[in-house]
Amino acid sequence: MPVKILVSACLLGQQVRYDGGGKLCEDPRFARWQAEGRFVPVCPEVAGGLPTPRPPAQIRGDRVVTEQGEDFTEAFDRGAEIALQAARAHGVALAILKQSSPSCGSLFVYDGTFSGAKRPGEGRTAALLRKHGFKVFGEDQLEEAERELARLERER
Ligand code: SF4
Repeated sequence: MPVKILVSACLLGQQVRYDGGGKLCEDPRFARWQAEGRFVPVCPEVAGGLPTPRPPAQIRGDRVVTEQGEDFTEAFDRGAEIALQAARAHGVALAILKQSSPSCGSLFVYDGTFSGAKRPGEGRTAALLRKHGFKVFGEDQLEEAERELARLERER
């Protein structure tokens, strides 16, 4: 069995983003890992019960809110738990999640002002996965992810 990777569903082109679109990662490594059967796709926001499309939300303090102040925290945290359960159930060894998302961001998130500005930080799902020992990379860190994958394969 190949080392499994939890992956943001939108990076596989699934149309699950807040705007109803996907965000296909066109890096050839992605296509290879998919062909090797490594990916376990998850969209935490959809899994948490939010519709597609949905209003964009950002992290503000300890909450996840829309620009109009609607509080989505509960759905985001439910989605994070479901992503963690999926990671455990499928025995994934690492995660590659969409950078800057309030769920999936692992280095940066939008800063809560809805101005397009980002700040260092992590989304709810990335944070929960890390808390439980999973390594999380963004689609902008595929070299690091590839190195980690190679290390895990060597250890088998
Ligand atoms: Fe993609 Fe994650 Fe947002 Fe779902 S929650 S659309 S997987 S970035």
